[in-house]
Amino acid sequence: MPQVVLLGTGAALSDATREHTYLVVKGRHEAILIDCAGSPVQRLEKSGVALEQIDHVILTHHHPDHIYGVSVFLLDLWLAGRKKVLRIFGLAETLRATRAMMRAFEWERWFEVGFFPVEFHCIPKRQRSALFTTPEFSIATTPTKHLLPTVAVRVQARATRRAVTYSSDTEMCDAVAQLARGSDILFHEATTLRQATGGHTSAQQAGMQAKRAGVKKLVLVHLPPHCDAQKWRAAAEKSFGGRVVVGKDFARFEF
Ligand SMILES: [Zn+2]
Ligand SMILES: [Zn+2]
Repeated sequence: MPQVVLLGTGAALSDATREHTYLVVKGRHEAILIDCAGSPVQRLEKSGVALEQIDHVILTHHHPDHIYGVSVFLLDLWLAGRKKVLRIFGLAETLRATRAMMRAFEWERWFEVGFFPVEFHCIPKRQRSALFTTPEFSIATTPTKHLLPTVAVRVQARATRRAVTYSSDTEMCDAVAQLARGSDILFHEATTLRQATGGHTSAQQAGMQAKRAGVKKLVLVHLPPHCDAQKWRAAAEKSFGGRVVVGKDFARFEF
C-alpha cells in the first residue's frame, strides 16, 4: 500500500521536535519527494526510502523552509553515485529561486566532474492541473493563496484510485478544498490555532477545509514551535467533525 511519510512537520519557525514541513509519497518501486528541507538524505534513510526510488521532486513554493534542502540533496545524490536524471517540478518563480540558490554554490562546475542530469519542469498556474503520471501515481496541482505563488499537490495511486492532498502554505482557499475533494487524507497546514494570519490557515480553518473537501482524515502539519497538539486537534475536530491527527516527524499514513 502506498504511504506518506512526514519528513518534517514544523512551520518556518519551528522547535527542536520538528524539522520544516516536507514529505515523501512512497510506492512499491518509486517515491516522490514534496518540498525539500533540512536533511533529506538522512530523513529518507530513516523512513526506509532508497535514494534510487526518487526520480521526481515537487517544490510547492520558494519560501526557504520549503526549498533550502535542495542544494545538499542534489550534492548527496551525486556523492551516493547517482547517474540517472532527476526531475524537479515547480512554478516558474520557484524554479527561478531554486536555480539561483544552486548558482550561489556554483553548481555549473559540478557538471564538469560528471554530475547526473537534472531537469526542471514548470508547473502551470491552472486550477486542478494534471502535472505528470508515473507507473504508480498521478499528480495534480492547484495554485493556493499564499504570500508567494504556491501550489497544493494531489497524489493519486493509479492502482486503487485512492488519493492524498497536501495544502502546502495557504490561507483558507476554495481551490485547495476542490483539489482535495474525494481524497482519503488531507495534509493541511495549521500554522496557528484559531486566529489565522495572512497567507496561512488556523487549525480551526483546516478542519473547515477538510469538511468542505469531504476527506476521511485530516493531518495537521506546518506547526508552530511548542504547539499544544491537544488544542490543535480539538480546534480542527470541532470544525471538521472527522478524524484529525496532529502530524509528527516520521509519522506514516497508508492510503
Ligand atoms: Zn512554510
Ligand atoms: Zn510559505
